[in-house]
Amino acid sequence: MTAENFRIDIDADGIALVTWDMPDRSMNVFTEEVMDQLDAMIDRFAGDAAVKGVVITSGKEGSFTGGADLNMLQSMFSQFEAKKAVDAEAAVAELFERAGRMSWIYRKLETSGKPYVCAINGTCMGGGFELALACHGRVAAASAKMGLPEVKVGLFPGAGGTQRVPRLTDTQAALQMLLKGETLSASKAKAMKLIDEVAAPEDLVAKAKDMLKSGLSPVKAWDQEGFKLPSGPVYSAAGAQLWPAVSSLYRKETGDNYPGARAIVKCVYEGLLLPIDQALKVEQRWFANVLQTTEAAMMVRSLFVSLQALNKGARRPADIAPTALKTVGVVGAGFMGAGIAYVSAKAGLSVVLVDRDQAAADKGKAHSEELMKKLVGQGRATKEEAEGVLARITATPDYAALKDADLVVEAVFEDRAVKADVTKQVAAVMKPGAIFASNTSTIPITHLAEAFPDPARFIGIHFFSPVDKMMLTEVIMAEKTESQALAVALDFVRVIKKTPIVVNDTRGFFVNRCFLRYISEAYDMLIEGVPAMMIENAAKFAGMPVGPLALNDETAVDLAQKIMKATLRDEGEGAINAEHFKLINHMVDDENRLGRKNGKGFYDYPDKPAKKHLWAGLKALYPQKKPEDVDFAELQQRFLVTMALEASRTIEEGVVTDPREADIGSILGLGFAPYTGGMISYIDGMGVPAFTALCERLAAKYGPHFAPTPLLKDMAEKGESFYGRFAPADAAAA
Ligand code: NAD
Repeated sequence: MTAENFRIDIDADGIALVTWDMPDRSMNVFTEEVMDQLDAMIDRFAGDAAVKGVVITSGKEGSFTGGADLNMLQSMFSQFEAKKAVDAEAAVAELFERAGRMSWIYRKLETSGKPYVCAINGTCMGGGFELALACHGRVAAASAKMGLPEVKVGLFPGAGGTQRVPRLTDTQAALQMLLKGETLSASKAKAMKLIDEVAAPEDLVAKAKDMLKSGLSPVKAWDQEGFKLPSGPVYSAAGAQLWPAVSSLYRKETGDNYPGARAIVKCVYEGLLLPIDQALKVEQRWFANVLQTTEAAMMVRSLFVSLQALNKGARRPADIAPTALKTVGVVGAGFMGAGIAYVSAKAGLSVVLVDRDQAAADKGKAHSEELMKKLVGQGRATKEEAEGVLARITATPDYAALKDADLVVEAVFEDRAVKADVTKQVAAVMKPGAIFASNTSTIPITHLAEAFPDPARFIGIHFFSPVDKMMLTEVIMAEKTESQALAVALDFVRVIKKTPIVVNDTRGFFVNRCFLRYISEAYDMLIEGVPAMMIENAAKFAGMPVGPLALNDETAVDLAQKIMKATLRDEGEGAINAEHFKLINHMVDDENRLGRKNGKGFYDYPDKPAKKHLWAGLKALYPQKKPEDVDFAELQQRFLVTMALEASRTIEEGVVTDPREADIGSILGLGFAPYTGGMISYIDGMGVPAFTALCERLAAKYGPHFAPTPLLKDMAEKGESFYGRFAPADAAAA
């Protein structure tokens, strides 16, 4: 039985109002069934003389559609792989057909002879916005957001988006929007001529019907004689100026790492040289092509399927009832504590924010005031909302105020003794059963739990800075942490709308372990005499958002020194690299180069408007190689391999138990080259045998830190993948 996803009401003027309202779903998405029903509806209206025009809207308040059901897309990937193994040619032909299905349904709508208006009542993304673009008119609610974000999950808009957008707006703006996967407000979309009207939500349908009644043509401009592209032809003086700049901008922005982004540029360029029907074929061909890339498969899996699973609590112990969190305590109102208090209060929780004295606690609360003020100024929050957030935060030096907290997060100085003292004071006032979480970045949670009377209720919740912007949290299980504490921690993380990964206790947990590898590889390169500029650029071309030396400046060079000293103290001489220690000691002790915070680190930070630039003195530290003697591609590989290898070690040691968490943690925590799908997908994507061979080659040239681990060798021999061998219980191995 097929569910009725669309309601149809035909009024006295012969206007059919189609309301998309999928039963049992909070948001409309494109499924095979929805496409079948849409297809049949277009035929029906085309053949019904009584229907003069059609308005399409959604029955879900505030949202039109989230786009395609990417789970459907993922099953398409696996079906394709299965079929390819049997009959490659037939598999590719079938994929080509499926890749174009939505696009040709839309083209049929566009040329059906009936005028369609899309009434965009709210969020309208991906395939939904492409449907709107195929309609003959578009009116959107002022609050609606719309866009084509496919490039962010490794794809591109393959249902006419790359053709209709640059036929409605100028090529440069179109490319920018498509390549960024930008979300547009209704007013921006109107300014770009992507929609015709903006209306109040209650007037949307009436306005759409008015457009039809005033004689909207059922023939699109590009299907009429004499159509002119908004920016003129590709082969014109303007085109000759634009296109060379596009290709250099594309390379600069993407490092040519994203097949989806590359396909956008090709589709727009090739498509604008052709009539629309042929242009749509070009788009279909590229879409089928991109669907077959490793990058698309890995990005869809990590950034859509896995991310959603983790956000929905894939790792939450199922046998524990959801906690009704009302009050959280935050102890330490400094840089991190203030941020944690803010995101908690913003999510509707009551917050007790404790510091050593009233002034320090108030200073932490002032951070929320500042951020809310900014949001109000930008029109993104009302005054009442801002007042509500502040009213929910109680700033006090009095530990007794923590007595009602269901969860207390500790964010005091990174010092074992201070933390132990605070832990004891908090434990003395906490209500029975409440959970204690530490936000330490380096101290093993198991050690900290020793100061707490009931270590079963002690857990780590590691935030990243700035707390309001970074979407990841690492939840750390100490030796004695029990599942109740995990459930509460995950419920908290869900309330504040962050993505959790659950890891077992180890020095640096997951993200910082991989982060240190990134920085450490850069130190190696500096010591080898690789010009610093090449180091930074290689990292960026490999897909990292910030170069390692710039990142080290942000986190502070003296912090690197502190971590090295602590490791030396705790684990002995062999645990750190003596050359690295020498380099950092020189930077900090001899040169006083502490990073951005004192205006000098690996970079110099002159007063604005001058821009930061690499410190010229770096060249004098080590004999410099000539750029032409450096293998730039290999530098890129070294960064990705050293981090991915560390991620594989965390799995081998049982620190990370689910490959999805390593992938998501690496992308959200470090910005690890998103086109790979994350560190573990990077390995699986090239295949464990190829990765192992690459490690061996790099180990021979650059040292044993690249040597493949026993697990990798074993997996390479057996032809296994991480997602196969460590398949999460709730997800099919891909
Ligand atoms: P911070 O110095 O900015 O803040 C620490 C706060 O703790 C200060 O306001 C201090 O007054 C308060 N404090 C100290 N002793 C106290 C006591 N006995 N009772 C109550 N309050 C007390 O430090 P931060 O950067 O916010 O770091 C806090 C914790 O978060 C550390 O464990 C750190 O490792 C961890 N962390 C930091 C970052 C980061 O990027 N800074 C990231 C993740 C985790």
